[in-house]
Amino acid sequence: MRTTNWIVTATLLASFSAAAQQAADSQPSTQPPAVDVTQSAPATPAPTPATSAPAQSAQPATTDAQQASPAQPAPAPAPTTMDQVVNLFIEREHGLIKMLQTRTPVVETYLQNLTADAQLGAVPSGDHYFLGRMDMGEDIDRKDYLKEEEKSMQARLLGGFQKLYKVQYQPLGFSWMVYADRTDFDREHYNFRYARREFLGDVRCLVFDVTPKKGSGRGRFLGRIWVEDQGFNIVRLNGTYYPAPRNSYFFHMDSWRLNLIPGYWVPSFIYSEEGDFSAGVKNKMAFKAQTRIWGYDLKKGGKDDELTQIRVDSVTDESATAQDASPLQAERAWQQQAEDNVVERLTNAGLLAPEGDVDRILQTVVNNLEVTNNIDLPRPVRTRVLLTAPLETFSVGNTIVISRGLVDVLPDEASLAAVLAHELAHIVLGHNLGSKYAFNDRMLFSDEGTYQNLGFRHIPEEEQAADKKAIEFLKNSPYAQKLDSVGLFLKALQARAPQLNALLTTHLGNPLAEGGRVTRLSALESQGPALDNAKLDQIAALPLGGRVKINPWDDKAEMVKTAPVAITSARDKMPFEVTPFFPRLNRYGANAAAAPTTAANNSNTGN
Ligand SMILES: [Zn+2]
Repeated sequence: MRTTNWIVTATLLASFSAAAQQAADSQPSTQPPAVDVTQSAPATPAPTPATSAPAQSAQPATTDAQQASPAQPAPAPAPTTMDQVVNLFIEREHGLIKMLQTRTPVVETYLQNLTADAQLGAVPSGDHYFLGRMDMGEDIDRKDYLKEEEKSMQARLLGGFQKLYKVQYQPLGFSWMVYADRTDFDREHYNFRYARREFLGDVRCLVFDVTPKKGSGRGRFLGRIWVEDQGFNIVRLNGTYYPAPRNSYFFHMDSWRLNLIPGYWVPSFIYSEEGDFSAGVKNKMAFKAQTRIWGYDLKKGGKDDELTQIRVDSVTDESATAQDASPLQAERAWQQQAEDNVVERLTNAGLLAPEGDVDRILQTVVNNLEVTNNIDLPRPVRTRVLLTAPLETFSVGNTIVISRGLVDVLPDEASLAAVLAHELAHIVLGHNLGSKYAFNDRMLFSDEGTYQNLGFRHIPEEEQAADKKAIEFLKNSPYAQKLDSVGLFLKALQARAPQLNALLTTHLGNPLAEGGRVTRLSALESQGPALDNAKLDQIAALPLGGRVKINPWDDKAEMVKTAPVAITSARDKMPFEVTPFFPRLNRYGANAAAAPTTAANNSNTGN
């Protein structure tokens, strides 16, 4: 079996080659001209007080209790005038708001403050991270996963800017553009002017400029929307809110939706950016921020789930010999139970992707390390993807977890092998024997309490031992000749570590760097050539978002498919940086043939 895996390696890992820079999907369309809001209008905390009617009979009943995917809207009669199109997309927007009322997706915002660098352009000077659940049934409300002290760090960030504007990087501030206007998206409050047709990805859109009517109140959407031309759903919003109250400020946002379920396009990515480095600009507030939304299909606090899911699959013991467990078997089963409990709990909290495509690649790399080091464990090593951006790995029992952000920034397979080797070393060295999570009462906490209730950190001695063992593994492995790129990655990480504290703050495992100093595998840091920004073929680390794509509805992770784009200057490298989103839009089902999501390989979420 292992030999077959070897053969598979080459093809699988083609998607993890050192292909260099990932660029946002190329688009046939052009960027919309910047909406003329220039004013840098002072802005406001929340767009509008949303006082929607209490969610009555929340959700049209679904036929399939397991799937719980919302009922499709009736197909709209083909409109013949632009006026009818406007009516249709207003209606569809209200339909979306209603459909999502019962949902509490995960919202993550990662923000980098920027400073000007002569060689590299705008580079990060600091960063901030927010993670929470958003209750879409009420006025936008976020429950924060992060601890109190981390939250107060958010406040500290305001720094010098507070005097210029009362800018608050309020977590929910970045979720405003989930909708254009939650309560008053209608003709009484807005003018809609048709601009043109345009393709976004594979989807033909009608583009409208949206301006608030005079006297329609503060914090109204001002910008442009893209409406797809079949169901007339809004698929993208770009602009800001206007007018803002005195002394406050609205961010500019570019908000994208994906057609993840039939009939609806759900808010998925929001990019925000402010800043102007041109000469003479006084207020140099500058940042870039990515907001990602996922976990739409998570059960709301587990409550909705109680009665619909009491369905015990016909469980029969299919083990060949129905013998009693020996003490050793019992011990292993106990360990397995602890591991499964944690994996299941993290998945249900919207923090772990279900088993999928990315795991096949990770597992192949782990397998390469195991085979070449003659590692034979009583239970197989599994891998899973943590859905969040901060760079972290940890392992629980024999399951290695690596964050989406870390997979994104790793330049090649050898550096992926290096971070996995560290966790494999913990497993081999028997550092993961804590089985306290085999008791189910320890799993009974709110999703928001995950980071307070679970933790897989090791003591420094174990960290050092794991690093040492990992380097041994790597030197026996197919990656032995490629450790220069691991060294280069660690140098790039070191170069940015002092500015990227939030990206390097882990929530469940040990950090890669502490106090601005890389600690993980630091013995390899001296390996390889010196970091040289001017060398265009030296790619030490990638920007965020270039490798792993998350399906915001069901949290499945897959590898991004992008064609390599030539790097023409040091500015194109953007290691660890935030970039705009440009997802390639397509309609639900368009990729069905390509996505191998059959019930067969899809069933295991950790029990
Ligand atoms: Zn470790």
